[in-house]
Amino acid sequence: MRLIFMGPPGGGKGTQAKLVSKDAKAVQVSTGDELRAAVKEGTPAGKKAQGLMGQGKLVPDEIVNEVLKDRLQKPDAKEGWILDGYPRTLGQAQTLDALLGDMKQKIEKVALIDVPFSVIEERVLGRRTCKGCQASYHVKFNPPKRADGKCDECGGELFQRPDDSAEKLKTRLEAYKKDTVPVIDYYKKKGLLTTVDAGTRGVVDVESLVRGALGLGNK
Ligand code: AMP
Repeated sequence: MRLIFMGPPGGGKGTQAKLVSKDAKAVQVSTGDELRAAVKEGTPAGKKAQGLMGQGKLVPDEIVNEVLKDRLQKPDAKEGWILDGYPRTLGQAQTLDALLGDMKQKIEKVALIDVPFSVIEERVLGRRTCKGCQASYHVKFNPPKRADGKCDECGGELFQRPDDSAEKLKTRLEAYKKDTVPVIDYYKKKGLLTTVDAGTRGVVDVESLVRGALGLGNK
């Protein structure tokens, strides 16, 4: 499938994308993960993005569009993908339309994983990310099962992303409201949007709603 997962930062898009990717026959494509890898490697895009990411600000469209284009052209993305964290601006949505036109591909559905702003703070401040494979945990709602502070999947060290702080979250939510909410409308008008009302539900319940919305059937 070719899908887009949208929703506020810390709302669970990435977690849900990982959970359903196999059944959706799609690879998870997170521009945030790609950019963090670019920062780690010290590529030119990474160098330009680093400061802005640290402040919780959006990285300019030209940089993110290029990162996304390269990623979608990799062989593992040929059969399907779930975009997680892209597009975040109308400009990115339009660039994506043009790119997919060239690639003769179509977005099948856009799932908005809707979480009230009131629960976002607790989710984001408690999030811990694996340094090795970028898997995501939560100190209260989804702690690692094998060892404290270590990733269940690869044993990597868990850390708090520098932009997962109360101050940076404020900036990220402002960017979401100003730049990304109009993208939701853009897909609504195209008839592609399906909304998953995640509310305060846990990961397992939200997964079942997401599966329903995408017609994937339950596990
Ligand atoms: P995420 O992991 O999706 O929360 O993204 C982390 C950070 O990477 C964001 O706060 C932005 O600084 C940057 N970023 C990721 N995706 C995009 C995008 N589509 N447009 C602009 N900036 C992005």
